[in-house]
Amino acid sequence: MDHKYLAFAIPLFLVFMFLEYFVSRQKKMQLFDLHRSIANVSIGILERLTDILTVALLYGVYDYLQKNFGIFNIKPTLAMWILLFLGTDFVWYWYHRLAHEMNILWAVHVVHHQSEDFNYTVSARITLLQSIVRTGFWCVLPILGFPATMIAVMLLIHGLYPFFVHTQVIGRLGILEYFMVTPSHHRVHHACNDQYLDKNYGDVLIIWDKIFGTFQKEDEKPVYGLTHQLRTYSFLWQHFHYPIEIILMMRSERTLKGKLKVLFGSPMLMDPEMRDKAERIFGVKQQPQPLQQRLNVYVIWQVIAMLFALFGFIYYEVDFGASERFLFTGLTILTLINCGAIMEQKKWIFAVEFLRMLVVASALWLYNADYQIVTFFIVAVLTLMALFYRTIQQRYLSVVYQD
Ligand SMILES: [Zn+2]
Ligand SMILES: [Zn+2]
Repeated sequence: MDHKYLAFAIPLFLVFMFLEYFVSRQKKMQLFDLHRSIANVSIGILERLTDILTVALLYGVYDYLQKNFGIFNIKPTLAMWILLFLGTDFVWYWYHRLAHEMNILWAVHVVHHQSEDFNYTVSARITLLQSIVRTGFWCVLPILGFPATMIAVMLLIHGLYPFFVHTQVIGRLGILEYFMVTPSHHRVHHACNDQYLDKNYGDVLIIWDKIFGTFQKEDEKPVYGLTHQLRTYSFLWQHFHYPIEIILMMRSERTLKGKLKVLFGSPMLMDPEMRDKAERIFGVKQQPQPLQQRLNVYVIWQVIAMLFALFGFIYYEVDFGASERFLFTGLTILTLINCGAIMEQKKWIFAVEFLRMLVVASALWLYNADYQIVTFFIVAVLTLMALFYRTIQQRYLSVVYQD
C-alpha cells in the first residue's frame, strides 16, 4: 500500500506550529515552553514512525474482519459515508471516555495529557499503544460491514482533525460550538480544573458529550496538565510512569479482586503515594533546572534532523526492507531517549551515544559493499573508544553539560 503522501503531514503540522508560535507572540501570550515542546514533538516522532510501520497490518485486520465476519455488505454510497463518519466518531467517544475512566486504558492515554502547555505541539502526544487500543475499538466498523478502504479514508480524516483543536490562539467559533469539537471544547478536556475533569471526549462532533452528559463549556481559565503534574522531560518516564504506578498499586492489594479493581478501576482512585514511590525506585527527579543555551542547541538539532529523516523515511518507506526499518526505528528511539535524558541532565546519555554509534556502524556494515574498509573503520573506532573511554566520556559530558 502506498502512503507516501502521509509524509507531508509533518511539514503541514510544523507550519501550523510555527504560525501558532508567531501569532501567540504577537498577542503576547506565553504558550510555548521550549523543553516541553521538544518533549511533545519527540513523542509524536515515534508515533508517526510506528504508525507508518503498522498501517498495513491494521489495514489487514480490518480487511480480514470485514471479509470474514462483516454482518452487512456495505457499498460506498453517500449515505454509508455519512453513517461511517457518525459511527467512527461515536466509537471514538466511547474509546476516549473509557480511556479516562479505566486505569489500564488511562495508562496508554495519559501521555496525551501530561503537558502543562496547550498548543499544537501537544497534539503530537500520541503513542503507538494508543493507536492500537483505538484500532481495537474501531474493529466494530468492519464487523458491521464497512470495507477497509472506506475505514482507512475515514480514519485519515479523523487523524487530522484533532490536530487543529489543540490551540489557545483561536477563541470561540460561533455556531460551530453547538455541534463541533472546537479549540474551546478541547481546552476544557485538557484542563485539570475541578469542573473540567473528564469532560468533552468528542473527536469531531461534540454532540455525543451533550447526549451522554459529559459536556462542559469553557468559562473559567483552564489550567493544563494532570491533577498531579509529572514535571519531567524524560522520554521513557513519560511513557512508563503510569503502568509502573498501576503495578505498584496492584502489588499493594492482597486479593485478586482488589488487583483487578486497580487494573480496571478509575484513575481517580489511584493512591497519589504510588507516583512518589515509583519516582523513588527509578530515581526520577521532578522539574529539572533550566538548561544552558548550548545544550538546547544540541537537542534542537537532533530533533530537527529526526524530523527530516522521518519525512524521508515515510516517503520512501515502501522501498525499505526489514533491516532498514529495524535500524531506523532503533536509531530514532535512541535519539529520542538521548534528547529526553539530556534535558533531564542524566549522566548515562554517553552510553546512549555509544549505542547510537553501534547502530550507525551496523548500518554501514550492512549497506556497504566494501566490507573490509568498513570493518577496519569500525574496529579502529571501537578500539579508540575502548582505549580512551574515560577521556572521551568526560570531554563529551563537559560539552553537553557545562557546569
Ligand atoms: Zn483525553
Ligand atoms: Zn487532545
